[in-house]
Amino acid sequence: MDTLANYINGQLTNENTDNYLENINPATGEVYSLLPNSNLNQLNTAIAAATSAQPAWEALGTEGRSYYLNRLADKIAANLDQLAAAETEDTGKPIALATSLDIPRAASNFRFFAQAISQFASESHNMGNQAINYTLRDPLGVVGCISPWNLPLYLLTWKIAPALAAGNSVIAKPSELAPKTAYLLSQLCIDIGLPDGVLNILHGQGNKIGQAIIEHPQIKAISFTGGTKTGQIIAASAAPQFKKLSLELGGKNPALVFADCDFDKTIDGIIRASFTNQGQVCMCSSRIYIEQSIYPSFKQALLKKIQTLAVGDPLTDVILGALISKDHQEKVLAYIRLAQQEGGTIVCGGTQYVPTGRCEGGFFITPTVIEGLSIDARVNQEEIFGPVITLQPFNSEQEALALANGTNYGLAATVWTENLTRMHRLAKQLDVGVVWANSWMLRDLRTPLGGVKNSGLGREGGWEALRFFTEPKNVCIPY
Ligand code: NAD
Repeated sequence: MDTLANYINGQLTNENTDNYLENINPATGEVYSLLPNSNLNQLNTAIAAATSAQPAWEALGTEGRSYYLNRLADKIAANLDQLAAAETEDTGKPIALATSLDIPRAASNFRFFAQAISQFASESHNMGNQAINYTLRDPLGVVGCISPWNLPLYLLTWKIAPALAAGNSVIAKPSELAPKTAYLLSQLCIDIGLPDGVLNILHGQGNKIGQAIIEHPQIKAISFTGGTKTGQIIAASAAPQFKKLSLELGGKNPALVFADCDFDKTIDGIIRASFTNQGQVCMCSSRIYIEQSIYPSFKQALLKKIQTLAVGDPLTDVILGALISKDHQEKVLAYIRLAQQEGGTIVCGGTQYVPTGRCEGGFFITPTVIEGLSIDARVNQEEIFGPVITLQPFNSEQEALALANGTNYGLAATVWTENLTRMHRLAKQLDVGVVWANSWMLRDLRTPLGGVKNSGLGREGGWEALRFFTEPKNVCIPY
């Protein structure tokens, strides 16, 4: 069995590890590796390394830093198959998804910020004939990047890349449920000769090493992606030290389907938006609102297609693999039972799926569709983060908008209509950070990404990320 190691000061090390966590393959239910459950001693060593590495890293300048980021991107691309296999083993996601989305995007994250930093300019403000102001944007120093299990390497690199590009050194903590690709990334950093201490990756539990990172006075900013409850704990812990915070949290995303949509394209789009990665993408749609006049035909076509979605061994040609853990599978099944208690009807799926053979111990759930629940139902208000959607008809655009905006979350919405005026009108009024028109997860890395309400604070992507990882200082010079 593999034992993963931390990456500290340019080395893979388990020095001072006092206990290990088990890493489970969710498709089989079997433990297949161990990871260090890191502690404060290890964090202090990593912070000392990061602190001493940062000035030279900053002094390399944008070209020097871009060189390393591009080399990392090349290495990720060159190791696509190995990384995709590791991502699938860790998360249970279909190998085709890891190969086509997760790993290529991790490479793109480094490539994008390697280039973006070369275009990043600070502002100047001229005060008539009195003075000129210019803004310096210096790196913050040592920053913390904490990421979840659903898109492990994709989201970890989405934070690390801008932090490094801007000249910071980084303490990163991947999810303890999906640590393998972060470990493999450490090896790639060593292979390309990334300067020691610039990036440090510590594994372990959120409430232990994660919390220690949040509280450490030498960590100047925290970029966090994960659940809303964890975000609240992090905000409360970081606030007394006035740390910069970027919080990308949960969602309960609506899809609005109008009678004038492109019917077939919308069916395919809703299926992708609902069930990609077993519904475990923060941007997944989970509340599907359909205009009354097409509700029966749309529902019928949707169910027909959903019933064809293959579930099972993620190493085979399936659309849905396993959920991340036994606990998460139980949580999702509990929400399905709750839906029935709340008066909902399961019109498709709703059960655990037990494959035969290699994956009989895995954590699978069939794609599930529920109808008959009001907006007030807990199942329509709380994030389930699994292959579960609810359907509800609406009679007017105003009603659709009220339903869409009717939760405490505000991450993403999709709108399906061929009426451009309606699309613009709704995009303006939807209380979310991202609106997709007749599409889902079409991503331009320059655009701001994040949520409102309980879905988070701040934005990632493009200039937003580079601004987050730098401190502006205004210099005013009279003429
Ligand atoms: P989580 O909040 O349980 O864990 C996320 C990370 O935080 C993990 O690395 C975990 O170890 C760490 N952590 C936990 N407690 C901590 C603490 N007290 N201090 C510091 N770190 C701590 O989330 P998860 O279950 O891994 O991920 C699923 C959640 O992430 C969902 O709610 C999903 O919507 C959200 N998510 C949001 C986005 C987005 O862009 N908004 C993207 C992906 C996932």
